Amino acid sequence: SGSHHWLFGDQLGPHFVDPARGGPHRDAPLLMIEARSVFRRRRFHRAKAHLILSAMRHRAAELGDRVTYVKADTYREGLREAVGDKPGAPVTVHHPTSHAARAFVDSLPFVRVLPARGFFVTHDEFKVWADGHGTKHLRQEDFYRWVRQTHDLLMEGDQPAGGRWNLDHDNREPPPKDAADLGVPAPYHPRESEIDDEVRADLDRWERDGDVEFVGEDGPRGFPATRREALAALRRFVEHRLATFGAYEDAVLAEDMTMSHSLLSSSLNLGLLDPAECVERAEARWRSGEVPLNSAEGFVRQIAGWREYVWHVYWYFGTTYRTSNTLRHRAPLPDWFTELSPDGTDANCLTHALKQVRETGWTHHIPRLMILGSYALQRGWEPRAVTDWFHRSFVDGYDWVMVPNVVGMSQYADGGRMTTKPYTSGGAYIDRMSDLCGPCRFKPSVRVGEDACPFTAGYWNFLHRHRDRFEHNARMSQAVRGLDRLRDLDELLEQERGRRD
Ligand code: FAD
Repeated sequence: SGSHHWLFGDQLGPHFVDPARGGPHRDAPLLMIEARSVFRRRRFHRAKAHLILSAMRHRAAELGDRVTYVKADTYREGLREAVGDKPGAPVTVHHPTSHAARAFVDSLPFVRVLPARGFFVTHDEFKVWADGHGTKHLRQEDFYRWVRQTHDLLMEGDQPAGGRWNLDHDNREPPPKDAADLGVPAPYHPRESEIDDEVRADLDRWERDGDVEFVGEDGPRGFPATRREALAALRRFVEHRLATFGAYEDAVLAEDMTMSHSLLSSSLNLGLLDPAECVERAEARWRSGEVPLNSAEGFVRQIAGWREYVWHVYWYFGTTYRTSNTLRHRAPLPDWFTELSPDGTDANCLTHALKQVRETGWTHHIPRLMILGSYALQRGWEPRAVTDWFHRSFVDGYDWVMVPNVVGMSQYADGGRMTTKPYTSGGAYIDRMSDLCGPCRFKPSVRVGEDACPFTAGYWNFLHRHRDRFEHNARMSQAVRGLDRLRDLDELLEQERGRRD
């Protein structure tokens, strides 16, 4: 048939070309467009640009003659080049992953949009669930339980495996004394191919020509670019790393910033892995007695709970959600932060997190939420700019996943539509959950003066600034009342006013 099926750069796995799952006809010709304007719009981390291009080109090499691979300036130009302005047969495409891309494909009369792939729940099913829960406040926990039941994940009949839905209290261990005590083998690391050499040469040339600018280091590619690599990474994770995932999920170690995390987010978001296969394998390891329930449940929760929830929140809350700014934060990001330069701060936790982002384009959840994001929130940086920063700087950053995670979860800019309270803390939390405070020149217990921890001072300053809003929040009111006990509050506020970062 003459009808093309178009694959976006984050639709690279077999489930995007499967006729049995609503995909294109078995021998429909495929189309991929590498649009350089995407990289011009934002100053991306170079490792991210590298990963995406490498993954697309590896996929094209696998598909061989079946795919038309167009390098163009924009998607529109690419389409024109491949199928012309008025193709005789419709071009099909699976539901893309951003509002902008969705609007674009909807604007093309010859494009027919097929259902989204790579998620458990459909848009319609989510809408029914969410409408039944009131649109003001949705809760991930309720959603997650519903997904577990309806998709039979870690269930024993109609009860959760082990009798409890939530094992989070087993999964908040502080880190072991040193990285060796964790006893976890290193994560999977891919080997580069000639395609990576070509990508690197192209990126060098674009930069030299002044066409595109990047931040961060493009060291040896650290994340899977092919289905085969992604499956190897998944296997290595469930066999060797999943057992210790749960207990230390929230912990951070300077010598091992990866700990037992899966590093699978970029593979999931490129569409190289289907979330269902990830959680099925984790569940199977628990059923065969090889990993404890808190680890299997913790991992299933991340994927079938959080990831799935974030995807649906992005569509359900619509296009205006991204500009929410309930706390009216307007400060710009400082240059050292946008440049990923750890030299801009003396806080050891921030230095470590920024350095890891610069070197790899990745940190695990806690550095994102409780170090980088929390800092931005306390400083009152503009949520849209913070979203843009995360989107550009992380290998796994895409619009759909960044907007809810940053606007909602991390910056509380939606006023609590997707979480119950702002995620931020003083230095004591970072001290408990990491080994980063010991060597730091600031002291987590000190809030005023030379040794004052910027997180501790920033936390009180933040609570003070938004006192009116949070004193009536059941999960925040006690913390807010703590302000009354600070005899040096005026001094602290003065100090924070003078802060220049
Ligand atoms: P693991 O800890 O091994 O978890 C397993 C998987 O669960 C992840 O691979 C991911 O697919 C999924 N997951 C867990 N939490 C979330 C979540 N909140 N949202 C979506 N998926 C989740 N994740 C992204 O994939 N892309 C992003 O752009 C992104 N931006 C974030 C920004 C902020 C401010 C915060 C707080 C979190 C963000 N996350 C994002 C979520 C989470 O931090 C990463 O998915 C995770 O750290 C990736 O590492 P991992 O694969 O080792 O995850």
